[in-house]
Amino acid sequence: MIEDLAIVLRSQAFKERDRLVTFLTEKHGKITGIAKGAIHSKRFGGTLDLFVCSAIHYKESQGSELVRIDEAHLRRDFLAIRERLENMSAAGYFTDLVLRLTQEKQAAREIFLLLSHYLYLLETAPATHEIVRSFEVKLLERLGYAPNFEECAACEAPLFGDNAGSFVSVAVERGGFLCSACSPAASRRVDPNSILWMILARETLIQHTPTLHFSQEHMAEGLNILQSFLRWHAPGIGEHEFRSHALLERFLEEARNQSMAAARSSATKEGLDSAGI
Ligand SMILES: [Zn+2]
Repeated sequence: MIEDLAIVLRSQAFKERDRLVTFLTEKHGKITGIAKGAIHSKRFGGTLDLFVCSAIHYKESQGSELVRIDEAHLRRDFLAIRERLENMSAAGYFTDLVLRLTQEKQAAREIFLLLSHYLYLLETAPATHEIVRSFEVKLLERLGYAPNFEECAACEAPLFGDNAGSFVSVAVERGGFLCSACSPAASRRVDPNSILWMILARETLIQHTPTLHFSQEHMAEGLNILQSFLRWHAPGIGEHEFRSHALLERFLEEARNQSMAAARSSATKEGLDSAGI
């Protein structure tokens, strides 16, 4: 019997009464198993729900990749995440990325910690574009897929600074960017400042990511760049149901517009108050 702490990445009905669940565990990486009778019995309660953290007990089954999940005890349900549509959507997108980018039964403690820290964050902080982009950068880094943001992937010239060119181009297949001298004529030009903030997002502690604010232009460029790298390693990410990446971007945009409108109206009110009106 193996005991481990685990976050539910995917949970679906299997046959009539069972549940097929994929977890990211703290010590054993991603595992998929069957929880017998989980559909109708109260034995598992809410322990197998999406992005819940549970202590699970499981056994390897002979001749099968699937393990047998015998017990699960709830450690944290992250219920507060479900109170905001954009946070729920972000958590769904994060777990989808982890599901698609990790290998079965390969230890991934760093990724487990990253995901749990972001789920904790989403319990209290409203999800923003900056938080989502910082998760993507940090995830790529911990998987060993981080683009080289500092040097040209061909000639190793610095991408920033006095001697750097005025633009760079994305070279996903080379794991980074090309300086202006090495960029093919037909490549799409990117302002080097659009990748500078990704370095900042990578370096900022998770608990401080709600304070990050990037310009809309750099954010849009960064979104395209990060998606190119993520899709290179995991085609089809975020393309279904509420884990949809496009839907998440829409929720984030709506939340951002609402908070900007709220800030404007409170500024107007303060103005009226200070003017004694
Ligand atoms: Zn170069």
